[in-house]
Amino acid sequence: MLHQPPKYKAITLANFKKNELIERNLTPAQKHHVEVVGQVLPFKVNNYVLDELIDWSDLPHDPIFQLTFPQKGMLAPQDFQSVAQALKSGASKTELNHLVNAIRHNLNPHPAGQLEHNVPVFKNTRLKGIQHKYRETVLFFPNQSQTCHAYCTFCFRWPQFVGMDGLKFAMQESRTLADYIRANSKVSDVLFTGGDPMIMRASRMEAYLEPLLTQKIPNLRSIRIGSKVLGYWPYKFLTDPDADEMLRLFERVVKQGYHLSFMAHFNHVRELETPAVEKAIRRIRNTGAVIRTQSPIMRHINDHPHAWRDMWRKQVSLGCIPYYMFIARDTGAQSYFAVPLERCHRIYREAYQQVSGLARTVRGPSMSAGPGKIQILGTVQIGNENYLNLRFIQSRNPEWVGKPFFASYDAEAFWLDDLTPAFNQEHFFFEESNHVLGMN
Ligand code: SF4
Repeated sequence: MLHQPPKYKAITLANFKKNELIERNLTPAQKHHVEVVGQVLPFKVNNYVLDELIDWSDLPHDPIFQLTFPQKGMLAPQDFQSVAQALKSGASKTELNHLVNAIRHNLNPHPAGQLEHNVPVFKNTRLKGIQHKYRETVLFFPNQSQTCHAYCTFCFRWPQFVGMDGLKFAMQESRTLADYIRANSKVSDVLFTGGDPMIMRASRMEAYLEPLLTQKIPNLRSIRIGSKVLGYWPYKFLTDPDADEMLRLFERVVKQGYHLSFMAHFNHVRELETPAVEKAIRRIRNTGAVIRTQSPIMRHINDHPHAWRDMWRKQVSLGCIPYYMFIARDTGAQSYFAVPLERCHRIYREAYQQVSGLARTVRGPSMSAGPGKIQILGTVQIGNENYLNLRFIQSRNPEWVGKPFFASYDAEAFWLDDLTPAFNQEHFFFEESNHVLGMN
């Protein structure tokens, strides 16, 4: 009998109770939590996640279950209660929307000032599908990539998926992107992001890349694709109808002289262990693309040194390059997932100590905050006092990059805003300047 290639099936709030695995394995209370929290935060899984990743014998602790299924603790108790009550009392759609939107607006939907600071103006037009925060790198949000094969419960881009007005970054016109990059000679990298650009068909992705491929832009050296498709749907590169076409497109990018970096998002070693993902990784690497890996550190999913050690080791054995450990952003369900900065660093360090030099390419733990990407370097004692040592890995002002600085030690700090400058300083050095990249 011929083996049928798996066909992608999305499971959402509208149909999750009809799925046999969910029906059999979730308790009534867990289904209720999905139903309530799923009104506020986006929820989508698929048949690969359900069939091949989740360990159903380990609910609710299974990391992939936590990664993809809304949990009660993701909302504040009063918010959970009010949504549950509204559902129970048969509130109208309008009433429910009103309530849900009020809760969403309290979940800091635009962290790090993305909307205000990073959208460039080019030829008198605000380029709503582009973010340009760091001098060398431009982020591009294709119109058709504003979704993912499944949604991470911690996603910092959650407002895009719930349709909050005015929060979508999306651009149709890739020629404008090419013109913008050409006009900004310091830009060497473009990152295709979303959602997940690998939700697009190869022909659509090719249309976006075409202006960069038909004529090599001299200052552009690297094309990056930020994606979780290897974690959520590796069949994209195996059995989907356009699998080979997408891989040929990658080859074309490489042949054009660009470095193609596939920025793969993995949160747990489990996502690297299926035959499908191993094969998909091999196929991508065979195109000449390099796979770099990144993940946030999240309570309930990977807040243990072993989780990171195992993930980095496995990534290196599959030929991937560990790249970033991020810190949970100050948005959405942050209070459910966040790990204190100092503990993030301890976990990072313990994991780092247990891997070979080949995995020590990884940088972190890093906060993508308003002024830039800030790495926690560790705790240092000076005299009788402890301090947190930090530095910019990337910043709005290129002169800040690499500059170490200190904050007072605070074991309960979760984000930059929780820190105070060390040595009785009134401000951190970067707070005195309001540097914004000059745009054409
Ligand atoms: S894959 Fe990325 S963009 Fe998509 S839900 Fe997860 S974190 Fe968000």
